Amino acid sequence: MKKLSLLNQILIAFALAIVLGLLFPNAISAVKPLGDLFLRLIQFIIGPLIVATLIAGVSSLGNPKKLAKLGSKSILYFLGTTFFAVTLGLLAGFIFSPGVGLNVAVPEAGSVEVRETDGVIATLLNIIPTNPFAALAEQNILQIIFFAVAVGIAITVVGEKAKPVQAFFDGFSTIMFTITGAIMKLAPIGVFGIMAPIVGDYGLAILMPLMKVILAVALACILHVAVIYSLAVKTLGKISPLQFFKGMAPAAAVAFSTSSSAATLPLTMKNATENVGVSKETSSFVLPLGATINMDGGAIYQGVAVIFIAQFFGHSLSFLDIGIVMLTATLASIGAAGVPGAGLIMLTMVLTSVGLPIEGVALVAAIDRILDMFRTATNVLGDATGSVVVERSENKEKAFVGKTA
Ligand code: ASP
Repeated sequence: MKKLSLLNQILIAFALAIVLGLLFPNAISAVKPLGDLFLRLIQFIIGPLIVATLIAGVSSLGNPKKLAKLGSKSILYFLGTTFFAVTLGLLAGFIFSPGVGLNVAVPEAGSVEVRETDGVIATLLNIIPTNPFAALAEQNILQIIFFAVAVGIAITVVGEKAKPVQAFFDGFSTIMFTITGAIMKLAPIGVFGIMAPIVGDYGLAILMPLMKVILAVALACILHVAVIYSLAVKTLGKISPLQFFKGMAPAAAVAFSTSSSAATLPLTMKNATENVGVSKETSSFVLPLGATINMDGGAIYQGVAVIFIAQFFGHSLSFLDIGIVMLTATLASIGAAGVPGAGLIMLTMVLTSVGLPIEGVALVAAIDRILDMFRTATNVLGDATGSVVVERSENKEKAFVGKTA
């Protein structure tokens, strides 16, 4: 095992999980604790890692204006790619037409709870934590970002007297990355422990009827990653897409199996800085932000799901409806938390916006974990491309120095 790269070990773990999951669908659940172990390990590091890296990162930027530039560029980039993603999702929905002629039971009315959104003002206000420690305890990433950015800016304003605090968080972030590195070595075992029981649980009988939905989401995600992200990384980031994907592959594999961008965040940050060469200042800000508000895979999924559900219930969508879906799917992907199944919950909001039956959610729920894998891996890779693009535009020729990427 020693000589195999981490990525190859993870790929072997995937293959083993599929083979053993198919061969022993019942007994394989015994390995679930291995997956839970890994999940707990990557989750415990998130809060302290973001606080430390972000305080160290923001305070070393030197001035708040640079941060504002970093923030607006990231948001603009994230919105742009999400727009492409939802368009691609809708197109994939039309092309695959997964809901046409589908013969499965119509879910019962009332089987799904409608999700009420908090409204724009409440959502924005909620970024400010009333208690930063509660934010940490709840792992509310946007609130943690707010707190860390405030402290980081104040360190710059205070100057000399705050230098020890800056040095402390700088050291602390290195410690957190060291722990992340140790946890990452367990990724193959974790991936196996998570994936094998899932393969065991999902027989072909569950997957087959909705295979077209799975294919539409999976292929649209793969296309988005291969075309949009390669282009972004090559033209805007000016680095080789191959190196980028190779560097980010462990994080993508962990995102795929855990279905959580938030849980994957420590690995995303480690891969982006160490393998791709994004600076800590950029990655510490762009990646946590992306893990919370940027979900291209989620947007693709909303697009496919809406077309599928409309077709299944025989509703036709007007041009205006499509426009509304594009808008609400973008909002849904911003609002969805980076946790498993978040996209499914947000789907009720998108369906209601164009008057589609929310029972449609129950229809896709059976296969959501599978769709979640593809969308989360896409989400995480999308966040990483954002860090590459912003890094290049901020640090120009100083960016990625010493990296073959
Ligand atoms: N699981 C996804 C993520 O963590 C969110 C979603 O359900 O779309 O990125």
